[in-house]
Amino acid sequence: MDLTTLAVHAGERAAAPSERPVSTPIYASSTFVPASAGALDQIAAGAAPGYMYGRYTHPTATALEAAVLALETAGAGGVPAVCLSFASGMAALHAAILASGVGRGDVVLCAEEIYGATLALLRDLLAPLGLQFATAPVMDPSALAAALQNRPRLLIAEAISNPLLRVPDLAALAQAAHAVGAKLLVDATFASPLLCRPLALGADFSMHSATKYIAGHGDTVAGVVTAAAAEAAGLATARKLAGGLLAPFEAWLTLRGVKTLPLRVRRQCESAAAIAAELARWPEIAAVHYPGLPSHPDHAVAQRQFGAQSCAQVGPQHGTLYGGVLAFALRGAGRNQVFAFLDRLRLCLHATSLGDVQSLISYPLISSHREISPRQRQRLGITDNLLRLSVGLEAPADLLADLRQALATLA
Ligand SMILES: *Cc1c(COP(=O)(O)O)cnc(C)c1O
Repeated sequence: MDLTTLAVHAGERAAAPSERPVSTPIYASSTFVPASAGALDQIAAGAAPGYMYGRYTHPTATALEAAVLALETAGAGGVPAVCLSFASGMAALHAAILASGVGRGDVVLCAEEIYGATLALLRDLLAPLGLQFATAPVMDPSALAAALQNRPRLLIAEAISNPLLRVPDLAALAQAAHAVGAKLLVDATFASPLLCRPLALGADFSMHSATKYIAGHGDTVAGVVTAAAAEAAGLATARKLAGGLLAPFEAWLTLRGVKTLPLRVRRQCESAAAIAAELARWPEIAAVHYPGLPSHPDHAVAQRQFGAQSCAQVGPQHGTLYGGVLAFALRGAGRNQVFAFLDRLRLCLHATSLGDVQSLISYPLISSHREISPRQRQRLGITDNLLRLSVGLEAPADLLADLRQALATLA
């Protein structure tokens, strides 16, 4: 054999299958050699599991998907489901929408308080292809019922909305959607699989930006969709043809994140609850939005919905988990004062995203809700002095001290 040939192949596939590393390797391979031509034929026909090309799937993705599926279906009594990983939350959402079976002329109904890019995906990419879309206030059952009269094929809602942390009753949404023949897609990013497992509540698709809590370390972008087994072929086709599979290194980082997800989220929720309760006592803070506070409009729904699921996951001794994100308004502050406050923070990093080990703060007016008209923002209750805080793993006392010293600039 020529040395050039040897250099390409030497060492590869030398490791015996009996060798079992404790960490799934990063399978950086664009294609896979079958055991035989017959085996490849079986894999290509979908008659046998296996690997043939790096755009279809790879072993590192399989390992991550098995891990997320286990979390998303925990306690669901073995209902057959699948999980697929994607290059981003948006790629996951795109595939789930396509897999839901919507086509030209069909209506997609989407919660009014929805992630900006979700709305933009429907409006700027899918509507020009003939899909219709509308928004509905999912927190208002009669307005939702009216919107469902348009017979949408798909309803999209978030388990916890941004930035006011509204919590819809997902079982009721699933029932209302199914009654008119629509499927329900839940974006559960803010809740993480620890607080909420939408499939058990009747949703047809549960999607996460794994960039946030699931990967959790601010070092990768990723997405996952979990759905009933009947949706597997549609999701796989959408992923394969649009090329949205998560790459091996990112799948590995995300899988590593999964291992500490329950520990991280539990701590983040407990810290967020403590910080929300403390901020509510500060005179400089005009309002605190957190589903764990009795003052939050959806406290009862959150308690029921997340209580049952989160206690089953982390043990009732921790109480109900309400999420690691809160929002608060600086009393009497305008845009310039909010800017000064943000620039004075040392621990809380002013950056887009959430769910990371570092606390991240964002200003919806200039980020997530930048494109929304002042009138619509006012209607949604997103004031010019509102900030969103994603609580990380720092000690709550240190985070409060950081907020306090930055507030001093406003005095
Ligand atoms: C971040 C986010 C997305 C998009 O996820 P990417 O990983 O950035 O593509 C979708 N929905 C929600 C609620 C998000 O926070």
